[in-house]
Amino acid sequence: MSAVRIAALAAIALALALPARAQDRVLNLYSARHYDTDEALYSDFTRTTGIRINRIEAGDDQLLERIRNEGANSPADVLLIVDAARLATAEQMELFAPVKSKILEERIPANYRHPLGQWFGFSSRARVIIYDPKAVKPEQVRSYRDLALPANKGKVCTRPGSHPYMLSLVSAMIEHLGEAQAESWARGVVANFARPPRGGDTDQIRAVASGECAIALTNSYYWVRLMRSKKSEDKAVVQAVRFMWPDQQGQGTHMNISGGGLMRHAPNRDNAVRFLEYLASDTAQAYFANGNNEWPVVKSAMVDNPELASLGNFKADPLNIGVLGSRLPAAQRLVDRVGWK
Ligand code: FE
Repeated sequence: MSAVRIAALAAIALALALPARAQDRVLNLYSARHYDTDEALYSDFTRTTGIRINRIEAGDDQLLERIRNEGANSPADVLLIVDAARLATAEQMELFAPVKSKILEERIPANYRHPLGQWFGFSSRARVIIYDPKAVKPEQVRSYRDLALPANKGKVCTRPGSHPYMLSLVSAMIEHLGEAQAESWARGVVANFARPPRGGDTDQIRAVASGECAIALTNSYYWVRLMRSKKSEDKAVVQAVRFMWPDQQGQGTHMNISGGGLMRHAPNRDNAVRFLEYLASDTAQAYFANGNNEWPVVKSAMVDNPELASLGNFKADPLNIGVLGSRLPAAQRLVDRVGWK
């Protein structure tokens, strides 16, 4: 065998060996996130661990479908999605494998993670009320329950009831009020609609600013995004409306999370757990939460976001996020019964 030929074979052997080794240093991340700060998040992880991240980005529901369809052959190691309702759906689809991690258990508050480690919350958001101060007094919007007050007839705008953000809130109402009272509340909200539910949370805020509605619900980060916007039309929206933390005298404002977990058929389990633990570090928490104007779940993490900070402190509903998931089927039936379309 000539020296050239040996060298060529050696090169082939090396080329064959490399991908195998590279696979050990890889993580397949299925993520519904797509924020500018995520690039810094992922490159910081790769820098500190040497683990490369392959990202599949799609909408929350598409990702769930995709992983289900891939079945046992799914290359997904970690799934990141938003909202308790979707995490509960993924759990019911048996997509997750439980993770036992001292780091995650110590750093993430118990109400923001699954008791058996199926999923973990990495940032939190609040569902808040936006109102038109010209049409509504603050006393009319102090609680989610106020959305059903007869005084608020023809004023309320929401997303469709079957959207995960609404289903999670309805789940919380069922948990706090019981199913019968939650249902009469939901009937009251539907009776108070200014228009049939449509659009996303930002659309509801804009509809309050334009006078089409006087009261709306939004996740906090949509409001902060508008506050941070440089566009004059967004500034006008922020000027025209007011913000309310609901239920400060009662159970506290409804909270939700974005989060994720280890996939059941993950080919790179150890890397996946390392990544989840990394997401709970102070540095990652700051990137992760700030990417979507959310709050870190780890208390020691600092976020440099003056608009978010300007919202101030509030009483958050301490309800376990997993409890919301357990109420999800009842919440779906309830919104169907009351015609919250
Ligand atoms: Fe959202």
